[in-house]
Amino acid sequence: MKIIAITNQKGGVGKTTTCVNLAASLAEQGKKVLLVDLDPQGNASTGSGIDKTHLKDSIYQVLIGNKSLQEVILHAEAAKFDVAPSNRDLAGAEVELVNEMARETRLKNALLKLGDTYDYALLDCPPSLNLVTVNALTAADSVMIPMQCEYYALEGLSDLVNTIKKVRAHLNPILEIEGLLRTMFDNRNMLAQQVSAQLVSHFGKKVYQTIIPRNVRLAEAPSYGMPVLLYDRASKGAQAYLELAQELIQKN
Ligand code: ADP
Ligand code: MG
Repeated sequence: MKIIAITNQKGGVGKTTTCVNLAASLAEQGKKVLLVDLDPQGNASTGSGIDKTHLKDSIYQVLIGNKSLQEVILHAEAAKFDVAPSNRDLAGAEVELVNEMARETRLKNALLKLGDTYDYALLDCPPSLNLVTVNALTAADSVMIPMQCEYYALEGLSDLVNTIKKVRAHLNPILEIEGLLRTMFDNRNMLAQQVSAQLVSHFGKKVYQTIIPRNVRLAEAPSYGMPVLLYDRASKGAQAYLELAQELIQKN
């Protein structure tokens, strides 16, 4: 099982959209995929068609040690992948875990118990570098960083890269950057083109060739509880995430 943390401490950059649609696209390629929702907002759960208001168990119980991951995993019927869902309960985990043993390795240990049930586990991180995100980075083989090509994007990236270095030094020596993903890209925007060029000159092959365009279908699909692949397969957004899945499979 390849474990990929989809992270960026900035909110609204396309982490959740990438997690849900990449999960669906990998499943479409015949891969067995688990999406782990690590954001108390639970948008990845809802966007996969799971009703987070009526959840009996969630990833929160796994992190505090009351349940195994197997016990909380649900199948996203339409989307053909599995989800370890999240809801508001997770917001309390941070405080509750502070004095606990092995607090950074909770998720890693839970995922290890799954063995080879899945080909990929995609971890949808919250928009901060908190303990839940550290759990994701400790469990992951690699990090996928979605980003919008705007003025402050590169600045935020250095904080994230420093956090990755610290996690590598103290908790997870194998952690690597899987790739940087340009999201919500508007080709007519000069600034976006400049930032994109800077990104490529600085990070080279770590930048995915696939670019996710700004596409309204991607923004609409979650309100129907569907990945865009099911909502509008022909859309530019759906096609871009299929391409990303192929690029990812080829690299690994
Ligand atoms: P994050 O998880 O990083 O906070 P989201 O994936 O929730 O970001 O995206 C933020 C908002 O932007 C959401 O309303 C989402 O539907 C929208 N969005 C994400 N990617 C795209 C895109 N490529 N085109 C248009 N809207 C997008
Ligand atoms: Mg999100």
